Amino acid sequence: MTARPIAVVGASAAGITAAEALRRAGWEGPLTLIGDEPHLPYDRPPLSKQLLHGAWEPERLLLRSKEQIDPLGLELRLGTRATGLDVATRTLTLDDGERLACAGVIIATGVAARTLPAADGLAGVFTLRTLDDALALRDRLSGGARRLVVVGNGVLGCEAAAVARELGHDVTLIGRQPVPMVAAVGPGIGELLAEEHTARGVRLLTGEVAEFEAASDPAPGAPAQIGGVRLADGSRLPADLVLLAIGSEPAVGWLADPALDTTDGLGCDAYCAAAPGIYAAGDVARWEHPLHGRPLRFEHRMNATEQAMAAARNLVAELTAERAAEDDGTGEGAERPERRPFAPVPYFWSDQYGLKLQAYGLTAGADQVETTVLEHDARRAVALFGRDGLAVGVLACALPPRQIRALRAVVATPVPWEEARERVREATTAG
Ligand SMILES: Cc1cc2nc3c(=O)[nH]c(=O)nc-3n(C[C@H](O)[C@H](O)[C@H](O)COP(=O)(O)OP(=O)(O)OC[C@H]3O[C@@H](n4cnc5c(N)ncnc54)[C@H](O)[C@@H]3O)c2cc1C
Repeated sequence: MTARPIAVVGASAAGITAAEALRRAGWEGPLTLIGDEPHLPYDRPPLSKQLLHGAWEPERLLLRSKEQIDPLGLELRLGTRATGLDVATRTLTLDDGERLACAGVIIATGVAARTLPAADGLAGVFTLRTLDDALALRDRLSGGARRLVVVGNGVLGCEAAAVARELGHDVTLIGRQPVPMVAAVGPGIGELLAEEHTARGVRLLTGEVAEFEAASDPAPGAPAQIGGVRLADGSRLPADLVLLAIGSEPAVGWLADPALDTTDGLGCDAYCAAAPGIYAAGDVARWEHPLHGRPLRFEHRMNATEQAMAAARNLVAELTAERAAEDDGTGEGAERPERRPFAPVPYFWSDQYGLKLQAYGLTAGADQVETTVLEHDARRAVALFGRDGLAVGVLACALPPRQIRALRAVVATPVPWEEARERVREATTAG
């Protein structure tokens, strides 16, 4: 009988990191990496920055070369979608009908871009989640000046608007919230970003999209081309291209087993385990952060890597204990790896017009935000985020690396608000 593999589902940042970490943690058995995209694992943050801009080509986004992947001894199943998982037997179903009985599974299926049904079937309407999405949008932006309407003024919408404007397009950014990126950066830094976009010539609007209009009747058999966006207040924005940047949905639709909790991502315990032998990592995983005492899910690049390493280590520790229990009937014994709770200091960054935003800890879901503008014209600012009287996150805009490192230490664990304020002040005024 062939040994059962560990299967990692999702071949992106979390998936490839998990595969490597499984080997490092001592898994010598078969290892399968399953990804529905046709590409080798690539990095997503440059999609809305260097790739869209044209500064980088797709090869530069590869997370590992073929030469780096080969020694892992993977069965690499690209262009293959997992369609189901039976938790009790740890059996995956794939879209080619195969059933894969596994020793353990790591789920790293990320999130998918949300769309609006009203825009379905219209040419010139894009989302921006995959390499193919980014190349398609870039292709359309490269053919002369265009009127681009970006729907959604969160991080992704703002980054794409900045790049398109730098490329000389006529850009309108429309969001429900009057301040761009407010959920991620708070009102103060959001205002600074709004000023920067406006100064660079992006038109900022607050409103709700009601419908999409075709430019004209299409030729027989061809899709209609987008011509404009109608807002709920009746106004109309002419558009050659539309980017929908309206958030994402965790890719859990394929997981129907009632043993799993799939409300807002795949629910996991503090060890990143969703069920015995089933772990999750990256954008799809919602887990109990031991220091914050509530379930959290991040769509941050750094978390994908860190959580994949934690999930892999913990899965190998669990399988080692399972095997030992089968061998000696107790599962107790000498020198076995221990599972460890996953307790990172969350981190994300965003780049717009050469401004770097960097955040540690939790910024979303704060009930208190205090922004200090250190230099208005250079947009140098810092914001502290609190919840229930404790400081839980900090965000820096255009600060030097030394100050940013000091800020990380302030929110590595939740701290009383006044103490954190003082430490932020010290970190941002020191030499
Ligand atoms: C345009 C863009 C810009 C970003 N910029 C930043 C940034 O500046 N800073 C930052 O911190 N983060 C940024 N992020 C977020 C960051 O890229 C993500 O946090 C990271 O990619 C998550 O990695 P992941 O492996 O968990 O998921 P993903 O990268 O989403 O990968 C999941 C993979 O699983 C595949 N998959 C899904 N379902 C199945 C299935 N059933 N079977 C097989 N395969 C499946 C998907 O197709 C995908 O390839 C950005 C994201 C995007 C899209």
